Amino acid sequence: MIKRLEAHVANQIAAGEVVQRPSSALKELLENAVDSGADKIEVHLNDGGKQLIRVVDNGQGISREDLPLSIERHATSKLTTADDLFRLQTKGFRGEALASIASIAQVRIQSKTASAEDGYALSAQGSDPIDIQPVSSVPGTVVTVQHLFYNIPARRQFLKSATVELKHCLDEFHRLVLVHPDIAFVLHHQNEVLFQLPKATVKQRITQVFGQKYAEKLVPISEQTPLVGISGFVLKPDMAKKSRGMQYFFVNDRFIKSGFLHHAVLQAFEGLVASGTHPGYFIYLQVDPARLDVNIHPTKTEVKFDDEQGIYAILRSAVKHSLGQFQVAPILDFDKDPNLDTPYAYQSKNPVYPKIEVDRNFNPFNEQNTAFKPKQTAQWETLYSFGDDPQRESLAHFESRQTSLEGWEAETQSAFTSFQWEKKYIITKHQSALLVIHQSRAHQRVLYERLLAQMTIEKAGSQTLLFPLTLGLGVAQKTVLATMRGDLQAIGFEFDADSIDCVLGIPIDVQPQDAAQVLIQLVDDLESIENTGFSPVDRMAQLMSKTMSITTGKVLSSDEQLGLINDLFSCKEPDFSPDRKPVFVTITAEDILKKFNL
Ligand code: ADP
Ligand code: MG
Repeated sequence: MIKRLEAHVANQIAAGEVVQRPSSALKELLENAVDSGADKIEVHLNDGGKQLIRVVDNGQGISREDLPLSIERHATSKLTTADDLFRLQTKGFRGEALASIASIAQVRIQSKTASAEDGYALSAQGSDPIDIQPVSSVPGTVVTVQHLFYNIPARRQFLKSATVELKHCLDEFHRLVLVHPDIAFVLHHQNEVLFQLPKATVKQRITQVFGQKYAEKLVPISEQTPLVGISGFVLKPDMAKKSRGMQYFFVNDRFIKSGFLHHAVLQAFEGLVASGTHPGYFIYLQVDPARLDVNIHPTKTEVKFDDEQGIYAILRSAVKHSLGQFQVAPILDFDKDPNLDTPYAYQSKNPVYPKIEVDRNFNPFNEQNTAFKPKQTAQWETLYSFGDDPQRESLAHFESRQTSLEGWEAETQSAFTSFQWEKKYIITKHQSALLVIHQSRAHQRVLYERLLAQMTIEKAGSQTLLFPLTLGLGVAQKTVLATMRGDLQAIGFEFDADSIDCVLGIPIDVQPQDAAQVLIQLVDDLESIENTGFSPVDRMAQLMSKTMSITTGKVLSSDEQLGLINDLFSCKEPDFSPDRKPVFVTITAEDILKKFNL
């Protein structure tokens, strides 16, 4: 038997597409506020938006007659024919957001148009009849959404912690405020002001949101072609980050995700950023709405361009051009150990210096030399020679000596119990087997167990920094970090009472130069922390051990090797690194016999 679904059931099903979490409801409310023509928009969130989302605008308002329609499905004031889809100036057009939200949350819409004498408030809850009352109010609209998914426990259960949901809300907020610098925004969470953004230019808005330190890191891009107009900024290559945070494309004032546009930017940055790091950008594209389909996805974050290839090429060259024009020099040292690039066989070889032959009679201004060819070689060789400087010589030897056979013999005593191989493994024996220990993973395991013990059992020691460390976190990041304050203090971090951005002390085991990275990574990783099922404390210990551990390529003295082996085998679980990778392999006498075909 086929039955027509009741309207509120149909809406609930549709809501699944539009509203996944508080941030998606916030996005819809913010877009409606922008569409209303407001120039001031205020957001209030409680409990990461799970308990309350309120958006207040000073826009055109909704009339008494339109109020009930606003929460009706497929009711919109923004388009009448399908053709309008290709002339869109507004963010909304599907007329389903409020209907969807009202089917899964308690909604109150209070509004007053400029011409009306009174304001009216509509309350809607599930399939209950809606209620409309006159209220005194100022022109504009206040939409309050409470208890998202209160009637669908299965969906509510999937929501993450308030901190994670708040982070998603702030992401949506960023995406919107960055395209509307001409609108003033305020955002509160639990009655605390997190953002206060007066009207500004795009550049000012970026720094309002992410911090003043970005001001001199923004390289402007600008390109006007019949196909596409491009404006905005890329971040200088030295700001490239390990996480893909600051990557924003806006098409006709709408935040979108686009793999192919992203690729175009990456191409332009090629050779300028280290592999594994991501360049940042805020790129605003304008295209003819008739040549763009925004209606391919309910949340409207994906679009389809008529001429993808053309836009790709123009974008890539525009970014390249800006990077060149603003003389963003290539960064050559990507913090990487150059020794890793040297083939092992060469590491113990003494460098051979180029022989220098200087033609002391050479005079470039000499008539005879106008052709400039014959003596050129001699000239450039002088430039690159080291001369006989003995100090340079010893410096050049230094690296190679560590792995040379000579050094090995001198340390025969302790080398009987362990030696380092490829600057990566420690080889030792255990009963009748050989152990090949991955030095970095071993150290991670040791640090991890130590950190965990400190976090869960003892109050760890802290070293007070001579110069407090400023992290330069954005507001969103600070909020996330603040939720971890207790755990972080337990392991020895000390923060300024007024600002979590200012670090006064760090755990004994942490190197001051690593401290900022550890903390920033923690913040960026918060969501994965919740998804992995590890406890936050556990994940924190994992991350910190990874950041703090010795790496591949580090030469270890015999004492250090032995110390590490001892520490490793006093661990509870020496076999695995904190992220469950093997720490060592065992080669038994039998394995070797087999190799010899015995
Ligand atoms: P859409 O935005 O796609 O039209 P919505 O469900 O988001 O659909 O909103 C339905 C209608 O309610 C809008 O078309 C608009 O007329 C009205 N509306 C919603 N929010 C506001 C607001 N903040 N100010 C003025 N009108 C609003
Ligand atoms: Mg809308």
